[in-house]
Amino acid sequence: MMNKLQEKQLDENKNKILDEVKKHYKEYFIYAIKRKWLEIPDDIRHKEIGFGYLKKVDNRNISFDSEKEYLKWVLENAPFHLYKSLSYMEHPDSIGGASQKKILKREMAFDIDVHRVKKCTHKDDGWICKYCLEEAKNQTFILIDEFLMPDFGLSKNDLKIVYSGNRGYHIYLKPQDEEIKNTIERWDRYQRRYFIEYILGKNLNLNYVGSGWGKRILKQFEKNKIGVKQFEKTSNWKSIIDKKKNKDKILSIIENTKNRLELDEKVMEDDIRLLRVIGSLHGYTGFIVKEIKYNSLEYFNPLNHAVFSKFNKEYYTIKINQKIDLLSINDKTYNSKSKEVPASVILFLFGHGVDFEILD
Ligand SMILES: [Zn+2]
Repeated sequence: MMNKLQEKQLDENKNKILDEVKKHYKEYFIYAIKRKWLEIPDDIRHKEIGFGYLKKVDNRNISFDSEKEYLKWVLENAPFHLYKSLSYMEHPDSIGGASQKKILKREMAFDIDVHRVKKCTHKDDGWICKYCLEEAKNQTFILIDEFLMPDFGLSKNDLKIVYSGNRGYHIYLKPQDEEIKNTIERWDRYQRRYFIEYILGKNLNLNYVGSGWGKRILKQFEKNKIGVKQFEKTSNWKSIIDKKKNKDKILSIIENTKNRLELDEKVMEDDIRLLRVIGSLHGYTGFIVKEIKYNSLEYFNPLNHAVFSKFNKEYYTIKINQKIDLLSINDKTYNSKSKEVPASVILFLFGHGVDFEILD
């Protein structure tokens, strides 16, 4: 049992950490707004804003009449999580669903959010390392290079790629052709559902394989040394596969090709879905939700490039009271014995609910 004095010290420690974290978020937003890193949702009067501190979304149904008002509010509140609606709404501040808010149109975005991979250096599912981050990037390339470009005729200039601040990417569809943009932004949730189901291969029918999916699967067949000639001649693949001795292997390659993407289907489907504001910080990691150009994606390393540089300059003396997985930020590695850590590590530990103390 703790006595009163110990309890008081514990509270003081928690408050001290919270105050430091708040200070850094504020410092970041002052800089981000000055440098115009922070997204100002277009047509802001029709967008819903949500935010959170200890939970991802403590509050939503907020709206602003002007960009100025929005920026002033962000500076004052410096939230740990900041979101905007993908939809443009008649009444963004109405409480309730799409029928109360009245959806006018909706931005189109994919959310890739990956899990731990085999190579990961951590046991904790919520932790992060270069391997799961590589996987997230790899899936982003699959979505763009193998689906959006060849099957939908989009070019890199029609896409906006954003690192999510954790283990994922948001890929916005922003066709430069206004007519196409208007058309897809007016799709209803059923049309958006159909679109994402196509990409997840959910309605793939082996009796009738279309050219997009056909090409994707044949590529995987070739990688696995399975002859493709027969499949190129017909769209009825089932009749061929049924006669094959290695039927199971072929079917499992098809299944694996379908399951390469970890997409959050709600982000595509849900009418009132919120997505992180570009240029805000992710409250779990303290990393920047950062837009990356297609051509630089290959070289982008979130553990270095999504960390606000000032957060690597201020150091703290800390004591970590629990076992933690290895953490690499800015080419330095930390563990539960680490004593001198930069603010970037403080934000990560805080965001992950790690028990630690800041010593004077
Ligand atoms: Zn990992």
